[in-house]
Amino acid sequence: MPPEPGETRPWAEQLADDDESYRVQLGYLFERSPFYREKLAAAGLASPKDAGGLDDIARLPLTEKRELKATCTPENPVGAHLCATAAELVRIYSTSGTTGTPSYVPLTADDLHNWVIASARSYGASGIAAGQRIVTTYNAGPFVAGAALAAFERLGLSHVPVGTGNTERLLLAIEHLRPDAAVLTPSYAAYLIESAADRGLDLRGSSVTRVLVAGEPGGGEPAFRAQLEQGWGATVTEAMGIGDIGPSLWGECEAQDGMHLGARGFIHAELIDPESEAPVELDDGAAGELVLTHLRHRAAPLLRFRTRDHVVVRTSPCSCGRTGPRIRCLGRTDDMLIVRGVNVFPSAVREVVSAFAPRVSGHVLVRPQTAGVKQEPPLPVSVELAQDATDDAALAESIRERLRDVLVVQTRVELVPWGSLQRSEYKSRLVERA
Ligand SMILES: [Zn+2]
Repeated sequence: MPPEPGETRPWAEQLADDDESYRVQLGYLFERSPFYREKLAAAGLASPKDAGGLDDIARLPLTEKRELKATCTPENPVGAHLCATAAELVRIYSTSGTTGTPSYVPLTADDLHNWVIASARSYGASGIAAGQRIVTTYNAGPFVAGAALAAFERLGLSHVPVGTGNTERLLLAIEHLRPDAAVLTPSYAAYLIESAADRGLDLRGSSVTRVLVAGEPGGGEPAFRAQLEQGWGATVTEAMGIGDIGPSLWGECEAQDGMHLGARGFIHAELIDPESEAPVELDDGAAGELVLTHLRHRAAPLLRFRTRDHVVVRTSPCSCGRTGPRIRCLGRTDDMLIVRGVNVFPSAVREVVSAFAPRVSGHVLVRPQTAGVKQEPPLPVSVELAQDATDDAALAESIRERLRDVLVVQTRVELVPWGSLQRSEYKSRLVERA
């Protein structure tokens, strides 16, 4: 879809509007949020005036997911950041917590409406057009991605939902209904190439000309993306959401040079150094953890929420006309390892290894030997060979050297036979601790 008029406004104008929304949002939080009233008071901020505007946002404390969880009670399972009354809520989503208990994400009617606008922009950036047919593996179940379904309607698409975990049904839908596009996790998109081949199908011959990947990092990595584009014979663009903030906030356009903020006007994005928590300017090439603030949220707005996503920023003008900084996600800060002071993302390891295709399958497993972030070199990495490839000491050595040159990390590369690393129909696990 061509950008909406609001998406091509000068970024400075957007920020001026956002500053106004932010001040109103702060007033709302002081009035309605027990969580933020207390948190901001503890930081010496007793009123919205003390907090200032967006230029001063880095003075405010960050919000961690576990802080929110700690305030959940049987009476209020959402947490003390809940601002709306029960009657104001129209939907309550859950995010799949790693701890076992889900986090609840409530929405007012306006919140839901804004989510749909933002999601529609982020998917629309891909170039998909009204009247086209799209097949997705999203469930309309408890997870926030369900809200993206309404975005497809808003875009005027004909949506074929096949749900998760049913490869046969998905491949049949592609064959019978001839969709123009597919929405998948990048892991699943990779899995389907192999899975289709096993059934004697070649996805390059299918009707799908666009693959929109979301749900995990990796879809923006050039070598991995090239592998997906080759296998599908389609253009691959990525989109990204953050469960607690919104289902699809960022989306890449056909220039394929990072994701635009589809949620512009609804959220404010910052970067921090994940270790020191110091702010990082959104300059071209800057990298850091993404921190997001709701600007116009009502049910349970979040302020300076740590997403744990490590991103790199692009600020050069984009040929599509959309303004504002773009991002590419490098990985989860939770997955990050530090080897002799150097940050290593497992997805970056996969990216370097993928460049050795067709001799490797593209599946890797990083195997840290000790608990915690800091690891002693060499870092063990299992690299799966391509289907017909045989073990080759020279190949392992070349991969080891490339990892050292590109990521500045010493590794011990072990080549493993085709099919020995686990495939995922949803998100890939790239790390296995000893
Ligand atoms: Zn663009």
